[in-house]
Amino acid sequence: MSSPVAVWFRRDLRLADNPAIEACSGRDIVPVYVWSPDEEGDWPAGSASRWWLHHTLSALDADLRRLGSRLIVRKGPAPHAIESLVRETGASAVHMHRRHEPWAAAQEASVARTLTGMGCAVRTFESSLLTDPGSLVTASGGPFKVFTPFYRALLQRLSADGVVPDGAPPSRMGGVEPGLASIPIDELGLLPNIPWDRGFRDVWSPGEAGAHKRLSAFLADAIGTYAERRDRPDLDGVSRLSPHLHFGEIGPRQIWHAVAGIPGAEPFLRQLAWREFSCHLLHHFPSTPLEPLRPEFAAFPWRDDAGALRAWQRGRTGYPIVDAGMRQLWATGWMHNRVRMLVASFLTKDLLIPWQEGARWFWDTLVDADLANNTQGWQWTAGCGADAAPYFRIFNPVTQGMRFDPDGSYVRAWIPELACMPAEWIHRPWEAPDSVLLEAGVRLGETYPIRIVDHAERRDRALEAYRSLRG
Ligand SMILES: Cc1cc2nc3c(=O)[nH]c(=O)nc-3n(C[C@H](O)[C@H](O)[C@H](O)COP(=O)(O)OP(=O)(O)OC[C@H]3O[C@@H](n4cnc5c(N)ncnc54)[C@H](O)[C@@H]3O)c2cc1C
Repeated sequence: MSSPVAVWFRRDLRLADNPAIEACSGRDIVPVYVWSPDEEGDWPAGSASRWWLHHTLSALDADLRRLGSRLIVRKGPAPHAIESLVRETGASAVHMHRRHEPWAAAQEASVARTLTGMGCAVRTFESSLLTDPGSLVTASGGPFKVFTPFYRALLQRLSADGVVPDGAPPSRMGGVEPGLASIPIDELGLLPNIPWDRGFRDVWSPGEAGAHKRLSAFLADAIGTYAERRDRPDLDGVSRLSPHLHFGEIGPRQIWHAVAGIPGAEPFLRQLAWREFSCHLLHHFPSTPLEPLRPEFAAFPWRDDAGALRAWQRGRTGYPIVDAGMRQLWATGWMHNRVRMLVASFLTKDLLIPWQEGARWFWDTLVDADLANNTQGWQWTAGCGADAAPYFRIFNPVTQGMRFDPDGSYVRAWIPELACMPAEWIHRPWEAPDSVLLEAGVRLGETYPIRIVDHAERRDRALEAYRSLRG
């Protein structure tokens, strides 16, 4: 019998459209996952991501068991874990997917060195993106820093190459000996000790089947109205595929293939292209998770304000749309994109707290925490990234709330204290007449916080800080 191939699962936790499996061409497969947070540099998975990881690994294991296999789980460091696995199983090749975080290349190189030294073949594949990051460059050969030309180049590449996902999963998968050691997923300690995850369980179904269910629901209910509804946090207008995509339970090729050609789908495909762009930026500018892409922002006069940071994190700033977003994040591990921009603008401009603090909080609390997208989202909002919103574009949380949550139902859903406030005042309760507050049962400073800053004043202060930078 021929020796098996070890397939090292990383952020590609699916069986369909999986080139590493496809390339095994019917040979026996040993599927392995290595838990190795110490190798992930400054960015080991945060609490919400760990919750997701626990459930998605369990789902992958269950899917493999249905095919007659199982997931072998080991602890890192990865080179050591993979080397042991190869020795124990006699695998003659290891297939893995590339990751694109700055720490990943060193890990891959180290694994490849170890295996090559043992005479074991190594093959790497791309499955989390539509194109290899770094493969699209400007006419002068440099990295794109502006989205639109990047998007044009991406579309050209995709129309030349086609977007064809890899095949269905194998119908049977042999290769794992009954005695092969594996750490029970429970023993990785990914789940929280105190049950803050209750709200997560109602909202999410981690795993490949959950990802496809989510895509089908989006195609059935929301793709046709995506362009009009995607900015409305009060409506169910977006796909919520982000955590599924992050963990590779579904691939971007599968989504692109399913969506392209549907009338009105372009704005959605454009968002997938932003995901590519973020990864492309991280590839070219690996220091951006901690440092601004535009170096002049290193001298920005940020402030240290632990009290304000805590109020922001807990959804107690007194600005309802900001607080609703931060509470949605805490309760479900996800926040609507429009509200992510609003809360990020509030932190970096109204409070002048460094964007890195916000990025860290998101990293710990988002189920879709993704180093490329999170870095790009924060730098974009703070004004210091590629193709960023100009710093002087400062979101007004009241007018944005009135525009994108016009009857206040998003705020009411996440801030029960304001449930009885009429739409006219819900985004600015401090301006509401006493009689309205009384009738709604709102006592500012008691049932709901007095706003911690005056937006108009803080806007001026932020612009002043920006001028000092340029001056
Ligand atoms: C401050 C800030 C932080 C963010 N942090 C993250 C993060 O950690 N992880 C993450 O996946 N996204 C992040 N985003 C981008 C965006 O908010 C989410 O991808 C989106 O809200 C996910 O919801 P969805 O799947 O319903 O998106 P949809 O609107 O349905 O879009 C489909 C997919 O396109 C991609 N996408 C959408 N918008 C963007 C964008 N602006 N940039 C890059 N890719 C995008 C996502 O993979 C998303 O799943 C951040 C944005 C901001 C402003």
